[in-house]
Amino acid sequence: VQPEADLFAARRRAVSSGLAARKLDALLIGLGPNLRYLTGFTGTNGMLLITAREAIFWTDPRYAIQAQEQVSCTSRIAKGPLLPRVVAAVTRRQVRRLGFEKARITFEQYEALRNAVPMRAALQPVPGWIEQMRMVKSAGELAAIREAVILNSRAFEQAVRHAKAGMREIDLAAELEFRMRRLGAEKPAFETIVASGPRSAKPHADPGPAPIRPKELVVVDMGAQHAGYASDMTRMLHTGDPSPKTRRVYRAVLEAQLAALDAVRAGATAQQVDRAARNVLRGFGLDKAFTHSTGHGLGLEIHEPPRLGRKDKTVLQAGMAITVEPGVYLQGFGGVRIEDTVVVTGNGCEILTPTPKELRLLEA
Ligand code: ZN
Ligand code: ZN
Repeated sequence: VQPEADLFAARRRAVSSGLAARKLDALLIGLGPNLRYLTGFTGTNGMLLITAREAIFWTDPRYAIQAQEQVSCTSRIAKGPLLPRVVAAVTRRQVRRLGFEKARITFEQYEALRNAVPMRAALQPVPGWIEQMRMVKSAGELAAIREAVILNSRAFEQAVRHAKAGMREIDLAAELEFRMRRLGAEKPAFETIVASGPRSAKPHADPGPAPIRPKELVVVDMGAQHAGYASDMTRMLHTGDPSPKTRRVYRAVLEAQLAALDAVRAGATAQQVDRAARNVLRGFGLDKAFTHSTGHGLGLEIHEPPRLGRKDKTVLQAGMAITVEPGVYLQGFGGVRIEDTVVVTGNGCEILTPTPKELRLLEA
């Protein structure tokens, strides 16, 4: 038996034994990261039903071989839509209270379930259960994230070595993604962000076709996916000498990021980390220009709970993988963000991202 298969089976058992406390007879998991988390299946069509005693996985004939290789529970190959097969299985087992993932299932699937007569009035939305399980990572998951971070930082070094004013944002983004793949990443963990000058004031700007001009800030926000797991890093470049204002904004964000990193430890709440960053920016009179939360969990998805924002009271636990990424965005001027991927530990955090944090000056 593969150790990984054991891990997936252990996760499914945890769900099985948690059903009663949630007043459920079964939980239905649709396609997505939760399905991968509970089965290891990486294909594009699948559903999983977990009852107190068993787990059944459905996919279509394209994935028959893959399911044999990846999925250790009972697997059924369905010709045609999967949902009617799931409904039949639910009916046969006399499931009365079926939990479903309200954030993941489509309305069409919900309607199909609701119209399956024996289950009427027995559908129970389950918000965020598997997502909660996913917050603390296993050693294997942390190893995958670690590797994604390393690939990410290496690709950044290789691509940025040649970057200078005159280069187009889309070319730098393409170079970053090409390098990631060459180094062994499965793919970028999300659409690479490269934005220069005033465009950097948009926290999620797409790379554009305009050349990067001299004397401009350039934000690079990138992630690599390795073994299904994501990394996330933001670093700032500048073409030529930065102005005093740029240096000041940069220092403010850097100090905020270091303060937030300092606040990360098992037992602290997500909102305490966020507050640490905001307090520093307030000292610079820049807190109103910090328009998003300080960070987020990451793993099979680039954005996972917890959210390191003003309102999230989640208590951080050792083994959580999170980002720390305060930013300042000034319309007409530009934006600065600095982001690391870190793992929460008992007395602090381990910063995985090895890339230096100073503002990197490029040829103007
Ligand atoms: Zn990012
Ligand atoms: Zn991020």
